[in-house]
Amino acid sequence: MRGFAQAGSDGIVQVTVGGARYLSGAAKDALTGARAFAALGRELAERYPVTIALHTDHCPPGDADSFLWPLLADSAGRVERGEQPLLHSHMFDGSTLPLEENLRVSAALLDRCRELDVVLEVECGVVGGEEDGIGDEAVGRDRLYTTRVDLLRVAEALGTGARGRYLLAATFGNVHGVYAPGQVTLRPQILADGQAALSRVHAGARFRYVFHGSSGSSPEELRAAVDHGVVKVDLDSETQYAFTRAAAEHMIDHRDGVLAPEPALGDKRAYDPRAWGAEGENGMAERVAQACEQLGSAGRSIGA
Ligand SMILES: [Zn+2]
Repeated sequence: MRGFAQAGSDGIVQVTVGGARYLSGAAKDALTGARAFAALGRELAERYPVTIALHTDHCPPGDADSFLWPLLADSAGRVERGEQPLLHSHMFDGSTLPLEENLRVSAALLDRCRELDVVLEVECGVVGGEEDGIGDEAVGRDRLYTTRVDLLRVAEALGTGARGRYLLAATFGNVHGVYAPGQVTLRPQILADGQAALSRVHAGARFRYVFHGSSGSSPEELRAAVDHGVVKVDLDSETQYAFTRAAAEHMIDHRDGVLAPEPALGDKRAYDPRAWGAEGENGMAERVAQACEQLGSAGRSIGA
C-alpha cells in the first residue's frame, strides 16, 4: 500500500489461498486468514490517499467450497446490512479443469459476484512455473498459450461485462517465478488477437486481461501487455525478493546486534522485528512504486 501511495497509483493487494492459510497462524485455515486479511487491509487502506482493492488469488477448484463460497456468503451478509462486500474481487483458478467445467463453475461464481458488486477473475490456459505449491509439471507446453477459440468461448459463456464484471487470466507464455530474460517466450500478440476476435463478434467489447507471473519481464513486454488490455499485473517473486533482500542486508550490517552470543540479547534497535521489518517494507514499497511507473499507473490514482 505504501508503494502505491508513493507512486500515486491505485492498486490491488492480494493473498493466495496458501498466503491466507499462512496468515491464519496456528488455525492453519485459509478462510480465517482471508477474513483477517480483509479486516486489516480495509482498516489500513483508509489511511492511504489512493484506492486499494483487496483480492484473493488462485483459488483452485478443490478449495472453492471451503474458501470462495464462504467469503462470498460473508459479503452477502455485509451487503444485506448496507455495507460493502468483504473483499473487492476473487480469483477462481479452474485452469486444471477441462474448459467447459471451468466455465460452468466460473459462471455460477460470476452470477453470485454480480449480485454483490464483486469482480471475479477467471483463468483459461495454464500459467507455467509454480505458484503457491501448485506446479505445471503435468501440463503440455502448448497449454501455456491460450487459443483464440478458447478466448471466444469464455466470452460466450461469461458475457462481455453485462452478466458480471470479470478479469481474464489468459496465458501467453507467462510463467510464475523469476526467469532470466529470454528464457520464456512471451507472445503478447495472443492477447491482441483475442481482442480483435472479440470485437468482431461483439462490437466494442474488450477483454480485461490479467498478467500472472510478470516477474522477470522486460519493461517493453510489460508495456505491450498493458497496450493489449492487461488491467491487472501480478508481481510476486520480485516483491518478495525486494523485501527479503533488504531485511538480509540489515542482518549483515548489524550482525552483532541481531546475533549476539548467548545469553546476551544483542541490540534491541537492531533485532526488534520492526527495525528489519521496516527495511523489508521499504524495499518492497520501492519495487511496487517502480512497477507502477513501468506499467503506467503512477500518478493516475482516482483518489481514496
Ligand atoms: Zn498467478
